[in-house]
Amino acid sequence: MSTPAILHQSPAVGAPARHRSLAGVLEPLDRIAAQSASLIANHDARFEVDGRTYELPRYLYLGPDHGSDPIRIGIFAGIHGDEPEGPQALVEFVRLLEAKPELARGYVLFLYPVNNPTGLEDGTRLSRSGRDLNREFWKGSKEPEVQLLEAELTAHALHGIISLHTDDTSHGLYGFASGSTLTEHLIEPALRAAAQVLPRNQNEIIDGFHARNGIIREGYEGVLSAHPEIRPRPFEIILETPRSPAFLKQAALVVALQSILLEYRKFIAYAPNL
Ligand SMILES: [Zn+2]
Repeated sequence: MSTPAILHQSPAVGAPARHRSLAGVLEPLDRIAAQSASLIANHDARFEVDGRTYELPRYLYLGPDHGSDPIRIGIFAGIHGDEPEGPQALVEFVRLLEAKPELARGYVLFLYPVNNPTGLEDGTRLSRSGRDLNREFWKGSKEPEVQLLEAELTAHALHGIISLHTDDTSHGLYGFASGSTLTEHLIEPALRAAAQVLPRNQNEIIDGFHARNGIIREGYEGVLSAHPEIRPRPFEIILETPRSPAFLKQAALVVALQSILLEYRKFIAYAPNL
């Protein structure tokens, strides 16, 4: 059998380096939203950079039986523009929810697939203003992306915040746990489940922080989180995939997200009896 011709094609000579386009990430989500009663797209959060208009895309996923006071979880991806697997994992996760809506029973999910649109376009960690947006939260940042996200975090009073990242300096999966004391009971099973796909980083020091079983309980100042004065604290999980093929990073993040929804629903079910 001959190899499909497409495998022999090389990039056009002289073509500029191509980075991910915002439209390319959002197209599959918008296609699902157009025909799904569960996924609602919102493209109204806009801001200007050097005379060009960008948007901070927002999607709402309504799980079955979410009721009038649903469990509200925010999932955030792409705040570092050079980590496109997070946005892609969120797209894959929505595809999974469309196939298996039961996974989101009782939940309303606030999905932010691209938190740094200029960085995604440029293929850079920083936004085009030269800022690491994930060090700017709750300190009066003038960055429009951060202001928009802070408004979302304030408006939705989330029970949980999950941020998707990749760290190609790591040989294994790890995560940051903060917020509610419950967080560690969610991140541990999430990393265990994702170990089907990618191994865990068992180092005692990861990214300069003390870690145990791939879990770091400190963190950088100014990362995307609930407002510091919000009580009770939501659970806050940052997931970091290691260097590996993109499809494995995405698969590990999707498995971890499934695990967190499953475990948190169990907790909610038992909470009235505590
Ligand atoms: Zn990152």
